[in-house]
Amino acid sequence: MDKTTSILKLKEIQASTNACVTIIENDEKTHEGLLSNIPVALKDNVITKGILTTGGSKLLSNYIPPYSATIVHKIKQAGGVIVAKTSLDELGMGGTGTASFNGIVRNPHDLTRQAGGSSSGSAVVVAAKAVDYAIGSDTGDSVRKPASFVGVVGTKPTYGRISRYGIIPYASSLDHVGYFTSNVTQAALMCDVLSGVDPLDQTTLPVCPTNTLETLNDNVSGKVFGIFEDVVNAVNDEETLKNFEAVCNALVKKGAILKSISMDEDLLRACLPTYYIIANCEATANHSNLTGVNFGLTQDGEDVEDIMTKTRTVGFGPLIRKRFVIGSYGLKDENQEKLFRQAQKVRRVVVDEFTKMLNECDGLIAPATSSCAPLLEGANTNVLSNTHLIAENYMVISNFSGTPSITIPSLPVKGLPNGINITCKVEDEATMFKLALAVESCVKELL
Ligand code: GLN
Repeated sequence: MDKTTSILKLKEIQASTNACVTIIENDEKTHEGLLSNIPVALKDNVITKGILTTGGSKLLSNYIPPYSATIVHKIKQAGGVIVAKTSLDELGMGGTGTASFNGIVRNPHDLTRQAGGSSSGSAVVVAAKAVDYAIGSDTGDSVRKPASFVGVVGTKPTYGRISRYGIIPYASSLDHVGYFTSNVTQAALMCDVLSGVDPLDQTTLPVCPTNTLETLNDNVSGKVFGIFEDVVNAVNDEETLKNFEAVCNALVKKGAILKSISMDEDLLRACLPTYYIIANCEATANHSNLTGVNFGLTQDGEDVEDIMTKTRTVGFGPLIRKRFVIGSYGLKDENQEKLFRQAQKVRRVVVDEFTKMLNECDGLIAPATSSCAPLLEGANTNVLSNTHLIAENYMVISNFSGTPSITIPSLPVKGLPNGINITCKVEDEATMFKLALAVESCVKELL
């Protein structure tokens, strides 16, 4: 797809989906490479020099950064052309696409439904075929969940694989750069483009960039797919289960081996609350620089404290204000040990269990979400059900563990998209893309 077609399509879908914060018409190719002349969209928490970068927050609604994220340079060096900054739930917090300062993002397959979040706009522009590549970020599942709801491939590589320099942070121990593509082959290519050690991000892995595309094939003969049994058991939707089983049977026909693998249920039910404590505490610390003093929106006040209070009250939406209250509570001296530190310990126990599970197979597989995208209005969730705590939110485990994880479109549910997720061992993107490619070809055969 060329830039002109991409921009026309972005404009066309904007009125119905509200996927973009900014459409960029004047970027040109500067290098030759894997992405020569290919349009790429960026989530609007990716810092772009001279181009509005809002992070989905009113507080940054006037912020024009003086520098660009490392991944922007990598995309440009590979020949890519930046065509849009896409909408997100405020500062990456949220999973619905309804919590951005600039309005709700809608699912292009059914405008009455959620696109998922927080990387809502990036998921939508790929689903609507306005671009083949869009960058997102994934702290809990923010690439892999919207990918499932809009029917595209959503990839979150290993923690440290891709530099986060110049990405507005959410929760640093959980934040990953991820991305959306139209298919698995493009996902492998994008991993090669974005990977690599970055002196500006000390959490990047000290290894060479990946070369996954060159070795990519879907030969899964003898490969062991670990069925994440607890997740499957927590899904109630018959069609999701039937589709999952059909794909698994097709994998067996390709020579794959299926193995049922489980985790302690109490531990699994603890994952989401543990995630929220860690994420909210880290977010509170990370966003303490959004004061209205140095950059972004500002409000008049009598002194610095008054300016900060007024700016943050006006600048942040209700959902994230609530999260900052929870985060501040968890970080208070008297609560830190029993909330934040305790959550970190639970995280460690989960990661140890998960590592054992991954050692029993080549990759774990499960439905990415329990059904198709929920309606924007009237969706009610029983927050203590296994469907919510496990089936809808187990993908946070890959953020706890830094493991590479990918969502691939499966067969439709109620005529709408729904994905399958695969997670592999840390640094083993090569296996992840291989297993994902096999799932992709099984789904094609079954359609
Ligand atoms: N929905 C989760 C949250 O609200 C995940 C967000 C993300 O991965 N950025 O925190």
